[in-house]
Amino acid sequence: MRNKFNVSFKNLTTAFESKSDKDLKKAYQLFMLMNSQTLTNVGTFFIKFALKFNFPVKYLIKNTVFAYFCGGESLIDCLPTIKALQKYHIGTILDYSVEGIKIEEGFKECMMELLAVIQKAAEDELPFAVFKPSGIGAAELMVKVQKGLPLSMYERRNFDNFKSRFETICREAYLHRVKVLVDAEESWIQNVIDDLSQEMMVKYNKESPIVYNTFQMYRKDRMAALSESCEAAKKRGYILGVKLVRGAYMKKETDYAANNMLPNPIHNTKADTDRGFNQALEYILERIDHIAICCGTHNEKSNYRMIVKMDELGIKVNHPHVFFAQLFGMSDNISYNLAKAGFNVAKYVPYGPVEAVIPYLIRRASENAAIAGQTSRELMLLKAEMKRRKLLKEQQDSLKNEAHLSADFQTNGFEFQDI
Ligand SMILES: Cc1cc2nc3c(=O)[nH]c(=O)nc-3n(C[C@H](O)[C@H](O)[C@H](O)COP(=O)(O)OP(=O)(O)OC[C@H]3O[C@@H](n4cnc5c(N)ncnc54)[C@H](O)[C@@H]3O)c2cc1C
Repeated sequence: MRNKFNVSFKNLTTAFESKSDKDLKKAYQLFMLMNSQTLTNVGTFFIKFALKFNFPVKYLIKNTVFAYFCGGESLIDCLPTIKALQKYHIGTILDYSVEGIKIEEGFKECMMELLAVIQKAAEDELPFAVFKPSGIGAAELMVKVQKGLPLSMYERRNFDNFKSRFETICREAYLHRVKVLVDAEESWIQNVIDDLSQEMMVKYNKESPIVYNTFQMYRKDRMAALSESCEAAKKRGYILGVKLVRGAYMKKETDYAANNMLPNPIHNTKADTDRGFNQALEYILERIDHIAICCGTHNEKSNYRMIVKMDELGIKVNHPHVFFAQLFGMSDNISYNLAKAGFNVAKYVPYGPVEAVIPYLIRRASENAAIAGQTSRELMLLKAEMKRRKLLKEQQDSLKNEAHLSADFQTNGFEFQDI
């Protein structure tokens, strides 16, 4: 796609500049495995089984899929990744990806870790921190609140604790001038998350965008929600922070709607989701003084759409209200090429103890196998780059040979001719 910025996601030299031949080969082998739905299903079953019965699979996971998609087991482990990305002007979004916490103590620990992330982000000038609300509060309580069901005294206290942790994270982010993304989750708890995020924006987004709520554009009702949020922000005098994504829980949403005799909230077709996503990004860019966007997608067309629209509207590449984000280990052709052209780019870098990050990795693997084309897209890119390097090496070798021959000829001309 033509654009004034001359960005091409087909530029593989830039995309894989940071990867050695060995890195490329390893990545290729990993994506080959994940390309098969059957292998992914079997692998997922095997890992769950092995963990349940305490088989020592941690080493295997840590050196394969974990090493590729995660920054490490702790914040400190992530430092080399942060530095490696910084070298290419890509910011890191440290994503403490521990899932499935069910007890108050665990929620508190998760919040403490998030506060450490915010501090680290402030020290190292990382663009964002991020959190998943169900990591700091019980999803079951959010379900009850969203349904308007009464809470027991014990539940009320826990829900208040959740709200207070939510606020502590946003306040800390505000005090450290670190932007914070609130991840979007399932529709049956999302209203609670939306309401709290909006409350936080009213408090902390007056001068600059600090809190960003996530809009999943696979939902039919999200365009209306986005424009309502924009109107509310204008009326109450704060900047609306938006992370724009398509949405990760399509199957869960469809099953939930069917099981509860509810209309499916997800668009009927992928094309509808794509249209919704692109419409939303244009809507936001047209109001860039009032809205800040973190565009979270691996879709090349949507990323091109962003930059073409920015050009049309005269929005400069490094406008502080515009960020692009991809997941670590995926779509480097987008991230590295955008960063090289001067756009604000960041990668979600998940981290946490291997066992605790496994649900994230399983989701990544099965999403990759399920999303038509995502893994094969990565595979194609890796294959093309390996081929490009091989050809380049062959050309260089043949040039070197020619140079040697010509040098030999010049020194031992007669002998050479005799042969
Ligand atoms: C930086 C970043 C942050 C993210 N944060 C979140 C988050 O907070 N919450 C969250 O839910 N997800 C999040 N995601 C995941 C995201 O929602 C998508 O699942 C993922 O990025 C794939 O979508 P895509 O736009 O990259 O690419 P594409 O491959 O173009 O789109 C795939 C997506 O299209 C949609 N889709 C596929 N088939 C259909 C169909 N038949 N009908 C309707 N829609 C369809 C689904 O949403 C699917 O995931 C994040 C992704 C990134 C890169």
